[in-house]
Amino acid sequence: MKSIQKPIVIVGAGFAGMTVALNLKNLNPSLPIVVVDSASNFIFKPLMYEVLSKEISIWEATPKFANIFSDAGITFLKNCLTKISFKDNILEFSDELKLSYQYLVICTGSIPNSFLIKGVGENCYFFNDLNDLNKLKSVLKKSQKTSYHKKLFIVGGGPSGIELACKIKDIFKDQFEINVIEKSNEILNRNKIFNREQAERALEKRKINVLLNSTVKEVSESKISISSEGGITSLDKDIVIWNAGVTANLSYLETDEIKRKYGRILVNKNLQIENQNNCFAIGDISIIEGMEDLPLTAQVAMQEGKHLAKNLELLFQEKDPLPFEFQDNGEMISLGIGEASIAAIGITLSGKLAFEARRLIYASKLPDINESLKSASSWIFQKKSIFKKFLKKNNFN
Ligand SMILES: Cc1cc2nc3c(=O)[nH]c(=O)nc-3n(C[C@H](O)[C@H](O)[C@H](O)COP(=O)(O)OP(=O)(O)OC[C@H]3O[C@@H](n4cnc5c(N)ncnc54)[C@H](O)[C@@H]3O)c2cc1C
Repeated sequence: MKSIQKPIVIVGAGFAGMTVALNLKNLNPSLPIVVVDSASNFIFKPLMYEVLSKEISIWEATPKFANIFSDAGITFLKNCLTKISFKDNILEFSDELKLSYQYLVICTGSIPNSFLIKGVGENCYFFNDLNDLNKLKSVLKKSQKTSYHKKLFIVGGGPSGIELACKIKDIFKDQFEINVIEKSNEILNRNKIFNREQAERALEKRKINVLLNSTVKEVSESKISISSEGGITSLDKDIVIWNAGVTANLSYLETDEIKRKYGRILVNKNLQIENQNNCFAIGDISIIEGMEDLPLTAQVAMQEGKHLAKNLELLFQEKDPLPFEFQDNGEMISLGIGEASIAAIGITLSGKLAFEARRLIYASKLPDINESLKSASSWIFQKKSIFKKFLKKNNFN
């Protein structure tokens, strides 16, 4: 057994970081683990639409890191990583704290990508974290009071854009004329066919316009310019929500410090960073060399987190680590209030039943929090324990 003198530091406690920390502590309770995150709360991002529609309350989807980690016996620090010295195994943080590590796991997720398109940063809303959610909520509420049929554009016909379009329509009815802009020739072009068909139906039912083969060229204070087959059109806009893609959140790394692909850290199949045997990168920030490009999802981040915990334990026992293999357990999308679509192994489900199943599956995945919070909580935590066993048995990991 290797001797561990300094802590295993995990930076970023989202889906990947949380999973690796909790699993590693379970496998080896005596390990010194320090988790650092710049935020105070975990954000269960797939449930952000339900927070917007008030189908669940904000605290249910955003438990406090301090509660989660103190319950698990893991040290948690709220701080923002600004620099890594790989040579000296030292991390630097925004308040000038320095922390040395024996092993490092980085998993700082992704941020919206504006692709340097003019006006996007200044004139669009985003939907990636709590701050974005609150800003969007407030502008939608404010606009609702002023007039009817405000022009709302959602850029990006991926899951996030479609889920948001359906939810906003159901919450605000005809207050907004909603347009989804997608640059390819279909929505959800990387998703399961069943979910795409359900989503197309959901959009049609809600009279949401979809502009395919259309690319945004510029967003100004009052207009959005869109390029399509017919040329460039400049349309009046009230609100634009930018959901066109994300990029790895790596502000603490120099551009050429570590090998990257598509802006993400290149790791080997053991999830190790090249030439840094004690450093690992998982979740949205990494891409695995020699493997098909995996989707940027919580499912991938959690599987990588679980796998890395096992590999670290093997390493401490001076055994060889195992290569990561992704198991596609299907996908779920929310399609408005009380509706969803699920395409999992051997199962397709849509409508209200899919909505309930999606909520139960996500409830089972929310991090464990202390008993007093659970008992004071609402629907989602009460159902969590009952369905955890069922979901495990049915392989909804
Ligand atoms: C609205 C929305 C809906 C989604 N829906 C789904 C879905 O239905 N299904 C699905 O599978 N996936 C979904 N995703 C994608 C999924 O949430 C991400 O793929 C997943 O969160 C990636 O996990 P991660 O651990 O890599 O990053 P994250 O979960 O984003 O966690 C990163 C953490 O790092 C912290 N951090 C960042 N920078 C620093 C720093 N410098 N110092 C310290 N801490 C830092 C952040 O505060 C954050 O806590 C959705 C995403 C969004 C935005």
